[in-house]
Amino acid sequence: MATKWLPKSIKEFILKKVLKGNYVFCSCCKTNLVTFFPYGTVARSNAYCPICSSLERHRLTWIFLDNEKLLSKNEKINVLHVAPEPALFRNLIDLSQKNKIVYTPCDKFEEGYVYPKMTKNYDLTDLPEKDNTFDLVLCSHVLEHIPDDNKALEEIYRVLKPHGKALLLVPLDQKLEKTYEDWTLSSPEERLKAFGQTDHVRMYGTDFDDKIKNIGFEVVQFSSKNFTSDEQFKYGLLEEDILFCATKI
Ligand SMILES: [Zn+2]
Repeated sequence: MATKWLPKSIKEFILKKVLKGNYVFCSCCKTNLVTFFPYGTVARSNAYCPICSSLERHRLTWIFLDNEKLLSKNEKINVLHVAPEPALFRNLIDLSQKNKIVYTPCDKFEEGYVYPKMTKNYDLTDLPEKDNTFDLVLCSHVLEHIPDDNKALEEIYRVLKPHGKALLLVPLDQKLEKTYEDWTLSSPEERLKAFGQTDHVRMYGTDFDDKIKNIGFEVVQFSSKNFTSDEQFKYGLLEEDILFCATKI
C-alpha cells in the first residue's frame, strides 16, 4: 500500500493563507478553511484537505483519538501504524519527536513504491514483534487487501497489550449483511467489478463487527452518525465511514 509523505512547505503556507475560512475544520492539521477539495475517481465533494492531505476517514480517526485522549496519556505509549497515511503519519512523527509516543510505522513493501522514512517492512499476518507490545494499533483500509484477514486480526490482537486498542477501518457496504468473498475471482478486472478495486479481495458487510469480536476483541463503533449534519459538513466526514475501536480484553 503506497504512501507518499508531503513535508510542510511554502506551498502549504500559501494555501493556508489563500484558503483561510471558517466553513470547515481539519481535525488532523487543526486548520480552519473555506472548503475541503473534491477527491476520488467519482469525485466526492468536501473530501480532501489541501494542507495535510487528510481524507474523511483520517479526520474521523483523529477526532476519535482526540476525544478519547488516546495520544495524550501521562505515560509514553507505543503505537503501531499499518500502511501509514500521510496526514496521520506527520502528526504521529511530530508526537514521536516530542517524545510523547514510541512510533512504529510499517507496511508490506512492494516494488516501485516509496515509503516514508522509518517505515518497517512488516507482513501483517506475521508481525516480527513480541506479544503485548503496543498500546495502540492504527490499521485503516488494509484488511481488504489481505486474503487471510483473520490471521492479520489475530496478529494485531497478539501484539497489543491487554486493554490496548486497535482502530480498524475497512471499505464496508452497509447494505451487505455478510462479507462478500469469491476466490474464483482473481483477475484485476474481476476484482474491480466485484470489490471496487483491482487489489481488493473482498467487500466487507455489517458482519465485520462480529469478525473482530470473534478474535476476542471488545468492539465500539464510531462514525459520522455521532455527529449532526452540520458537524459532518464542518469536519468533512463521510456517511459510510465507520471506525471500529477494538479493545484487547
Ligand atoms: Zn488538514
